[in-house]
Amino acid sequence: MTESKHKKELDEIIAAYEKVKGEMRLPYEISNALRRTVKDLERARAGLWLLYEISNAMRTSLELEQVLYTILTGVTSHEGLGFNRAMLFLVNDKEACLEGKMGLGPHSIEEATNIWRHIEEKKMALEDLISAYDNFKQDPNSKLHNLVKSVKIPLDEKGGVLALTVLEGMHREILNDKARKRVDDKYLNLLGAKYFVTVPLKTKDKVIGLIMVDNIFTQKPIIKSDINLLSLFANHAGLAIENSRLFEKTVYLSNTDWLTKLWNHGHFQTVLSRELRRAREAGTNLSLIMVDIDDFKRYNDRFGHVAGDLIIKGIARIMVEASRRRDFVCRYGGEEFAIILPQANKEDAKNIAHRLRDQVLKQTFPNQETQPKNLFTLSCGVATYPQDAHDKDSLIRNADSALMQAKRSGKDKIVLFK
Ligand code: GH3
Ligand code: MG
Ligand code: MG
Repeated sequence: MTESKHKKELDEIIAAYEKVKGEMRLPYEISNALRRTVKDLERARAGLWLLYEISNAMRTSLELEQVLYTILTGVTSHEGLGFNRAMLFLVNDKEACLEGKMGLGPHSIEEATNIWRHIEEKKMALEDLISAYDNFKQDPNSKLHNLVKSVKIPLDEKGGVLALTVLEGMHREILNDKARKRVDDKYLNLLGAKYFVTVPLKTKDKVIGLIMVDNIFTQKPIIKSDINLLSLFANHAGLAIENSRLFEKTVYLSNTDWLTKLWNHGHFQTVLSRELRRAREAGTNLSLIMVDIDDFKRYNDRFGHVAGDLIIKGIARIMVEASRRRDFVCRYGGEEFAIILPQANKEDAKNIAHRLRDQVLKQTFPNQETQPKNLFTLSCGVATYPQDAHDKDSLIRNADSALMQAKRSGKDKIVLFK
């Protein structure tokens, strides 16, 4: 049965109850039983509505962070499951651990009161809350989120209740003092979780993480139907997370180069357009360094493409190390590279190019003594927006022409476009 059909039928039953209640004087037991049934129905209706709304919202984005945010908004918003706090952890298979990914909810009772008043005053519906993702993304001060992000839990007995939820693939609940006293779990203490529920996030064939919820501020008891709904919800959430991860992986693979793992030519063009637009809007500089390995053909011809590939790979790694985190190191073509440097003037770009050149000179590569200087050397050309060019094509052309000049004037050089 579809959610909307189900909802319609529930509406009809509830309307019929209201009518009966108004028209007839029913015996106490019957009217009591009816009231309970209608309450259950209403709760079921709210649950179905929530699943429907949230599944829709989850489908509208494939960005993992946004999907996680939508999930936790569904779990914490009043219109949703209404828990005070929700925290989401995902399994890191390589390191056999659980990593905190997101925490949503206030950090203190004062903050809680303020947030809830704000939501109340603004009459924010679930949809509005989900659209507030951009605010969340830009808020580096969310204490709960930062706390959750700092947590790494081993996936074995040392990981306590959270690890067990994943290892056993079953929900766990600690809802009273007796149960709480039995566990001495440093991760629960760290997260300030006293009474709570954890539910596993599952895909078709494995557990990929968990959601933990509590009502730390309102102390509202968590009841069985809350847990059932949360578990049902977690099944949808697990699949949504898996989808968005697959999507992000596909996007990543289509934008990177197989050999070096650098950004490929297509992505280079996209990023350069975007970063130029940003530089234009913010009135900042942007530099481009074009790099070509010197006398590479002779090495390749002599030692073969497999050996040549290893050199390209090694130099690519050095380029990433020598540049800044915010730079985009790209493989432009065969043994040619391009580094996009946002917010870098010519002087900054020159320094980075020198650092790169020096690090390559310092590195020892197999059979490097057959190269003209007994070493692998690079030629680099640098051009900067807005000083040397105003659009993408002329920035590339000018960095390229500086590179050509480096080659013409003897190679192993960094030339700034003039
Ligand atoms: P120059 O100093 O003028 O740059 O001389 P060069 O020999 O490096 O000349 P050029 O840059 O034109 O030569 C590129 C050579 O790089 C051609 C080819 O042998 C090699 N090459 C290009 N792409 C690849 C690749 O993906 N793998 C390997 N192993 N070699 C490549
Ligand atoms: Mg070349
Ligand atoms: Mg070359």
